[in-house]
Amino acid sequence: MNEQCFFCKIQHDDNAVLYENSLLFLVLDGFPVSPGHGLLVPKRHVANLSDVTADEWRTYYLSIQESIKAIELTDLKAIYTAFFEKATSDIGKWFNRRALEHPHLGMKPDAHNHGLNDGTAAGRTVDHLHWHIIPRYAGDMADPRGGIRYVIPEMGNYKTPRA
Ligand SMILES: [Zn+2]
Repeated sequence: MNEQCFFCKIQHDDNAVLYENSLLFLVLDGFPVSPGHGLLVPKRHVANLSDVTADEWRTYYLSIQESIKAIELTDLKAIYTAFFEKATSDIGKWFNRRALEHPHLGMKPDAHNHGLNDGTAAGRTVDHLHWHIIPRYAGDMADPRGGIRYVIPEMGNYKTPRA
């Protein structure tokens, strides 16, 4: 437990945790990329994937599908309404308003992106490991091909000819 760490604290908030087992817990991202954007997080304060124990890693394998089910059973409109109302920044309000206005809010996802920012250079901003589960909906982007490759935007599309 790290007293300053967001994930160490939020795992004790029964209103925030959607699913948990002995080693991992699931919360929704407060700045959702899409409705149902979840974070599956070790209960231990560990930063890197290389810090995860074999038991934690095995539990990830077992927990991802359980997490997706838990997200699909959650009243996302109620949660994003609460997130919007308690947001302390314009950015937080913007993301949650977008989730509330999303045309696929409340619908079953058609696909998911999974992602882990394993280190600061990879984009991690909270140094407590968290696995992103990002639901995707058919038609939510004009051309979704490339998916997670868009972590470096100009390298995402590998179909467009280049000189
Ligand atoms: Zn932590």
